[in-house]
Amino acid sequence: MTATHPSVVFLMYHELALPGRGLVESEPGYVRYVLDAGEFEWQMRAIRDLGFRGIGVRQALDFPSQSVAITFDDGCETDLLSAAPVLKQLGFGATFYVVAGWIGKPGFLSAAQLRELHEAGFEIGCHSMTHPYLSDLDEAGLYREIGEAKDAIEQLLGGRIEHFSCPGGRSDHRAIRIAKQAGFETVATSVPRANRSSTNPFSLGRVAIKRGVSVDGFQNICVGRALWKIELSGDLRDSAKRILGNRTYDRMRSMILGK
Ligand SMILES: [Zn+2]
Repeated sequence: MTATHPSVVFLMYHELALPGRGLVESEPGYVRYVLDAGEFEWQMRAIRDLGFRGIGVRQALDFPSQSVAITFDDGCETDLLSAAPVLKQLGFGATFYVVAGWIGKPGFLSAAQLRELHEAGFEIGCHSMTHPYLSDLDEAGLYREIGEAKDAIEQLLGGRIEHFSCPGGRSDHRAIRIAKQAGFETVATSVPRANRSSTNPFSLGRVAIKRGVSVDGFQNICVGRALWKIELSGDLRDSAKRILGNRTYDRMRSMILGK
């Protein structure tokens, strides 16, 4: 990071685990992205201890120095129950990308909880209607998952939804075109790279945080150090997905992680 071209790393979180509370999914490929609530809390304190601030996507697009964007995907209930109080206490902002069709399902935010999160000052983004891989969809499917999902969340909150994140982290040029047509201002992927003013806002990088990251490893991510290592493993994953197809890749990943 330099003074002339500041970059901001976007972190990606999912559901948090609370004692005695079941997760919305138990598949190993899902659980590795579920942090214990305490783990999330020390990470937010580590950001503060670095002299950094946690901010939402809209603010991050000004690329302020000493900042990390905090994002959550899927719209789990723990966004409000567990993450929001920690963020509030530290004075951090964040963006919560919710799946429109999952609102009100067990383990996910209800409409009232989503409003509460929004009214608490957090930014709400869209993470599709039903969470498919966008690259598997035809035009009508893309419109439903991107445009109609945006409308549905906007109706619930009575405000504009400007930011979209891709299910599975993947998008393609058709998805980006439809996101632009629908009026989104950014699209976030899960390509682990820092963003800067020269970054295409329709292809923002994000680093998915897995459970069990060390303090040093986490701080390196926040300052944008050694992201190439994560990117390398991401490239291998993307090649495997391209060769095997999304469904076969998911099945194989479950088999390998589940053994
Ligand atoms: Zn997701």
